[in-house]
Amino acid sequence: MFKGIAASPGIAIGKAYVLRQEDTPVPKREMRESDVPSEIVRFEEALIKTRAEILETQKKISTEIGESYGEIFTAHRMVLEDRAMIEEVISKLKKEQLCVEYIFSEVLKKYTEVFSRIDDEYLKERVSDIHDVGKRLLRNLLGKERDILSELKEEVIVVAHDLSPSDTAMMHKEKVIAFITDIGGRTSHTAIMARSLEIPAVVGLEVVTRTVKNGDLLIVDGNHGVVGVNPDSSVLNEYKKEKETFEEFEKGLLKLKDLPSQTLDGHVIELAANIELPEEIPSVIAHGASGIGLFRTEFFYLNRKDLPTEDEQYEAYKYVASQAYPNHVIIRTLDLGGDKFISHLDFPSEMNPFLGWRAIRFCLAKPDIFKMQLRAILRASIHGNLKVMYPMISGIEELREANGILNEVREELRSKGVPFAEKMEVGAMIEIPSAAMVCDILAHEVDFFSIGTNDLIQYSLAVDRINEKVAYLYEPTHPAILRLIKGIIEAGHTAGIWVGMCGEMVSEPHLALLLVGLGLDEFSVSPVAIPEVKEVVRSVYLSHAKEIAREALNLKTGKEVDIFLRNKLKELVPNLRNAKDAMWEEGHEIR
Ligand code: PEP
Ligand code: MG
Repeated sequence: MFKGIAASPGIAIGKAYVLRQEDTPVPKREMRESDVPSEIVRFEEALIKTRAEILETQKKISTEIGESYGEIFTAHRMVLEDRAMIEEVISKLKKEQLCVEYIFSEVLKKYTEVFSRIDDEYLKERVSDIHDVGKRLLRNLLGKERDILSELKEEVIVVAHDLSPSDTAMMHKEKVIAFITDIGGRTSHTAIMARSLEIPAVVGLEVVTRTVKNGDLLIVDGNHGVVGVNPDSSVLNEYKKEKETFEEFEKGLLKLKDLPSQTLDGHVIELAANIELPEEIPSVIAHGASGIGLFRTEFFYLNRKDLPTEDEQYEAYKYVASQAYPNHVIIRTLDLGGDKFISHLDFPSEMNPFLGWRAIRFCLAKPDIFKMQLRAILRASIHGNLKVMYPMISGIEELREANGILNEVREELRSKGVPFAEKMEVGAMIEIPSAAMVCDILAHEVDFFSIGTNDLIQYSLAVDRINEKVAYLYEPTHPAILRLIKGIIEAGHTAGIWVGMCGEMVSEPHLALLLVGLGLDEFSVSPVAIPEVKEVVRSVYLSHAKEIAREALNLKTGKEVDIFLRNKLKELVPNLRNAKDAMWEEGHEIR
């Protein structure tokens, strides 16, 4: 059994499918002169195979999405058919007598470097084409399976060193029944995506890809962050039982769907959901949320080669707004950067991407992209109860600049006679410590706050949210975090605005208990977590929750707060996940 970080709840039992690490080292094998002709044949066969694959993908994309998308692959074919490149590989093969994989990767490297240096936007963009095609060809030369998550034929548990949020978005929910990774933390976007897909996941296992082989039998316990590899029959049977019990318990919680989210003494808490994709709306409704507290729009921009058009965005926002109506939907403007990148927007590589050019900083620097999104949101606002919020606001200047652009867009639409909801609420995410410190100033120029604890914790405690090595320091219960949250809620209320939270912290039942007591107005959690959080809210008196929060704020360490809250939860709702964690760990041996 291996211990990692519990990233998405549930238990899965199945066969491992190990994904190759992206940059597999290419072997440098020496050849005899007599081997050269057969190396040339291998190269030609790989060229033919790769070309056939590209044509097949092109056909599929053209019919399923549209001709213009398929055209991207014409550029890929052109790279493959480049005579100069082919001749260079063959002549080097003859001269250097090394294996073709090595020669080809060297030529590829040279081409990429040359193209990256050219001061021409169009040619620079070809670098990613060369990369894509080069990788495909190398894969064929090395005889690797194509690691295409969307084309899996049977149910598997994906095992990977790392998965990007866009890999995860491509996973077939029916085929990928769980995943485990070497790196990552609970609030990395890959983990968040797993919760959206409602598949169990364990991340931060450090060396799992070195241990697990294709076809191994795995147990993934996403509730406790534990993975079993080829377990013996007694462990397997124990987990089969635990899986059944957990699924029964979850089903039972779903009965809360239509009951109000209010404390025992009638204090109503807005319980909304976080979504990544419009397709999640049915799940949101099935779990009984009262709206969408965070619609992360950047997933719209991933897994594609161009930007979504204004109309495409409008259609998606209109769909979400009308499906959720009369409940609200908070659309967060583009939050690219950090661990969410797209290749075609030419993001510079940065030493510290989480501290770099991301989110609102990127949008203010690219007003055309920002305005297009705001136009789509405003146009969709007449179809439901839409609100908008900006990510990564660090102070009042950025907020004013963003609001200024929003007003320009409103003005443009007005002058063209395009209708939009004049009273659409506008909020700021509070996820940077500086914003938390000056939120009394910010509160006067927005309609609401939404606390983004995933980032707020990362920045306040200086702990990279995706780095498993420092994950033990990532403590939502750290007294500094509790004080910040208390201050934000109080400043919001003093200024007469409501305060919500959309970071993952609010999804944890024992922390939800604390947040009820701190007076948080809106809880926005992943759809799977809604029933549990609702159960917590419905099990406590507001006055009792306040007392619990007061006591928690008097404790000195994150660990003490954590244990204190888990124990309180155990008293109030003994069957919930976090209340049972301590008991579970005592009864299991892990390494
Ligand atoms: C947050 O930072 O808490 C948040 C909700 O945003 P994201 O996880 O997308 O950065
Ligand atoms: Mg954030």
